[in-house]
Amino acid sequence: MRQNIVAGNWKMNLTLPEGLALVSEITNMVTDEATGSTAQVVICPPFPYLSAIDKQLPQGGPFHVGAQNCSQKESGAYTGEVSAKMLQSVGCEYVILGHSERRQYFREDDELLSQKLKAALGAGLKPIFCVGESLETREMNETFDYISKQLKDGLFHLSNEEFDQVVIAYEPIWAIGTGKTATSAQAQEVHAFIREQIARAYDAEAAENTTILYGGSCNAQNARELFSQPDVDGGLIGGASLKSRDFTEIIKSF
Ligand code: PEP
Repeated sequence: MRQNIVAGNWKMNLTLPEGLALVSEITNMVTDEATGSTAQVVICPPFPYLSAIDKQLPQGGPFHVGAQNCSQKESGAYTGEVSAKMLQSVGCEYVILGHSERRQYFREDDELLSQKLKAALGAGLKPIFCVGESLETREMNETFDYISKQLKDGLFHLSNEEFDQVVIAYEPIWAIGTGKTATSAQAQEVHAFIREQIARAYDAEAAENTTILYGGSCNAQNARELFSQPDVDGGLIGGASLKSRDFTEIIKSF
């Protein structure tokens, strides 16, 4: 059975005291109001806060910590890099890989992402692997080809056992941080397509068990409708994860 997940990607926002205050508000609200939610919650703050945030989260509940990136290298003279093993050692369970901002601003391509995936899995982290098309690609009716290539080149080289650990996030680039959300029908169409590709690359069981998140201006108002789609198993949330009330409402949408 696949898990429902609501993951918050803070990106490069908040100071540590602001982050700790936000987490404290969220955990209090979730404890008070969302005990019935089936969602696992993954908080992805900037690297320097991971340990402190992890310590502040109630243990044994739905809360987990994730990073926003990791190095493809295991260790050594790579100034400024953070390895997957380092992340694991500070309590991190998940890592976002292939976010469109990293693909765009840091030139991360499928080859590099394949190496990062291996490094993350080798350290016992669960990758949240992002795919998604630009507006131009969508308007040229090439969304499915584009996503199929991202999956094939970036992800489907993994073994069955490795792939079992992966969460996929479908994030149409035109919807990220723009306030333009994919309709629930658009999201469902692509999620079903991704599941079909998994069944082809692996098998029906792998397809059935893979959590596929939607990301792109998901908020307290549209989360319930998006999450009600049969192939949408939760969300990767940017802007709305920085507001305790909004993020809690999204968690309560399950
Ligand atoms: C994201 O960056 O992963 C994201 C989905 O951002 P937003 O929710 O702000 O569109």
